[in-house]
Amino acid sequence: MIYLDYQATTPLAPEAREAMLPWLSGPEAAGFANPHSPHRPGRSAAAAVELARDRVAALLPPGGRVIFTGSATEAINLAILGRKPNRLAVSAIEHAAVLDTARASGAQVHLLQTDSEGLVAAGTAVPAGCELVAVMQVNNEIGTIQPVAELAGAAHAAGALFLCDAVQGAGKLAPPEGADLIALSAHKLYGPKGIGALWVRDGIELAPLIHGGGQEGGLRSGTISPALCAGFGAAAALAGARMDEDARHVAMLWDRARAMFAGWTLNGSAARRWRGNLNLRREGLDVARLMADLRDIAFSAGSACASGSGRPSHVLRAIGLADPAVKSSIRIGLGRYTRLPELEDACARIVAAATAQGV
Ligand code: PLP
Repeated sequence: MIYLDYQATTPLAPEAREAMLPWLSGPEAAGFANPHSPHRPGRSAAAAVELARDRVAALLPPGGRVIFTGSATEAINLAILGRKPNRLAVSAIEHAAVLDTARASGAQVHLLQTDSEGLVAAGTAVPAGCELVAVMQVNNEIGTIQPVAELAGAAHAAGALFLCDAVQGAGKLAPPEGADLIALSAHKLYGPKGIGALWVRDGIELAPLIHGGGQEGGLRSGTISPALCAGFGAAAALAGARMDEDARHVAMLWDRARAMFAGWTLNGSAARRWRGNLNLRREGLDVARLMADLRDIAFSAGSACASGSGRPSHVLRAIGLADPAVKSSIRIGLGRYTRLPELEDACARIVAAATAQGV
């Protein structure tokens, strides 16, 4: 199997797995202890959680706190529903975690459009009366990097807070500047699934969505998993230490893969892009057939979150593609553990299978 779907999820880094193991121990060691218990093993587990919190915080701006959640989706729900806005503005290419939560909030929702490159213009006006603006750092389908510092400035000038879904950018790029709330997910940065985080700028109040024992400063009740936290923390520390190296590696892979897809059209800006993402289309391509022909290559027909929904990608539509172009697009995701020879092999086979379709 050649894995080329790094936007859907990333493999667990061996270092993250190692960091998790002591907290998954059986009765012979006390690593299973409840981190909210005041006895010694409980305090050790709590110390592991706090170390992980510091490590995740090191990927984020100063002046805020990290709240652990079960996923980035939960973090985004906490950010939006926890502010109870009456009016909000979100980019048209946000992940469903933002778009659907915004709609479910009952607030009036304004969509901020992108250009055909998949970029929200830095000078975009924030509609009057908005209390919250959400624009993602890196798009999960087409990899475009948004001008979040400028958009956060526009939000503040309009009296709104700025939420940034940094799920696809965290650990890969410098943190989004100017944001008040930032959502992250461990499994997109080589950590475990089942844990995310919301970074909250100091002084910003949120109402909890989950009530109970008052963990996570009262914002997210429920016993926290030291193993998941430790894995997230180790993955964050590694991503921070390897940021330049990882970026150089995916850029090298991207250049080679892009050259192999001569004659295919790139979806989204080439220049303002995280190059772990290669989203391409070829007129007339039957993507379902392509995927059926290449079952040992894990790539995507669009956003993995939307796959199976049968809905054409809202992101590709937002950049102006008609349905046939949307349906003839594929997404190849590259990352830290992608090796050049396997990538070249996969790209050659994708191109050959497409050519065999006569497109
Ligand atoms: N935001 C973006 C941009 C994503 O790519 C994803 C996952 O695909 C999410 C949010 C949701 O993350 P999680 O799986 O942690 O809920």
